[in-house]
Amino acid sequence: MLKVANLRVQYGRIVAVRRVSFEIPPNGALAILGTNGAGKTSCVEAVAGLLPKAEGTVTFGARDITGAPANLIVRHGIALVPQLRELFLDFTVEETLLAATAACRDRSAVGREEIYSLFPRLAERRRSLAGNLSGGEQQMLAISRALTTRPALLILDELSAGLSQGILGLVISSLQKIREAGVSLLVVEQNLEIAAALASECLVMSVGEAVWQGPIREAIDSDEIRKAFFR
Ligand code: ATP
Repeated sequence: MLKVANLRVQYGRIVAVRRVSFEIPPNGALAILGTNGAGKTSCVEAVAGLLPKAEGTVTFGARDITGAPANLIVRHGIALVPQLRELFLDFTVEETLLAATAACRDRSAVGREEIYSLFPRLAERRRSLAGNLSGGEQQMLAISRALTTRPALLILDELSAGLSQGILGLVISSLQKIREAGVSLLVVEQNLEIAAALASECLVMSVGEAVWQGPIREAIDSDEIRKAFFR
């Protein structure tokens, strides 16, 4: 479904990603793992069309989406939940979802009631400003905003960062339902167990390169891989 070949991302003189290739099959899930600065965010931002100067090829289904702008990529069915969530803090929950609906254009949006049944916490807080939500509720809203565009592939950049175990459990179980409904996942994580709850295959990155690819459980169980690439 998604095929990334020979990706390279450069910021001025800093080469953040080089020669990275990976694939996600239909109804599949892949985790990109690695420590701070490994190049994980740069990879997924390139896929989502946020880094137009990235080199390499990105195909999604039968389409070559290399270099396509982010707004078009959303309409082709890829949605990104960014690391910093990037919500409009003075929009209510309801207004945030309405604004996301406007981005759908020719795709039919997922309705608010469907979103609220997935995240009942947001239904209770539908008239609250995004800025007044807890970190976990903001993460639910960022995921919901992406889901509104009815993606075939949902990209989650470090969803676990800063969240408590309890709320993280709620978010993970909703994402598992989304996965069961047929949405593919590309998950950027530093937390191996969170990644393993959402994907069974992983790509490990270190200093901009893909250094290992295989089942996440194998990476978790290998002292060698953990010592080499994780703290
Ligand atoms: P983290 O987990 O800390 O987000 P990451 O694995 O997602 O790290 P990236 O954010 O992709 O890694 O960063 C990879 C490299 O590119 C780092 O050396 C980083 O400092 C650099 N970098 C990222 N964004 C920029 C930018 N806008 N300008 C310059 N350098 C950047």
